Amino acid sequence: MFDKCPGVTTILQPTIKFKTCPKCGAEVELVSTDMKVDCDKCGFTIYNDVNSCVQWCEYAKECVGEEVYDRLKKEQIIKEKE
Ligand SMILES: [Zn+2]
Repeated sequence: MFDKCPGVTTILQPTIKFKTCPKCGAEVELVSTDMKVDCDKCGFTIYNDVNSCVQWCEYAKECVGEEVYDRLKKEQIIKEKE
């Protein structure tokens, strides 16, 4: 096993953070493992700014595990490489 890079810890360890809806200004609770959340008030979709190495790291799949990786791909956080 190799050490995980710091960039994936927010994905693997859920933490709550609050974001402000850019549309209506409401405070929206977002779990770090959720890739996006809909605003309770206006329904605006707020994306979790996953500023993470998994978006480009070629070892991302090994790092976060296949299950998480597939989910990120499904959420289009990770673009499938050709
Ligand atoms: Zn809103």
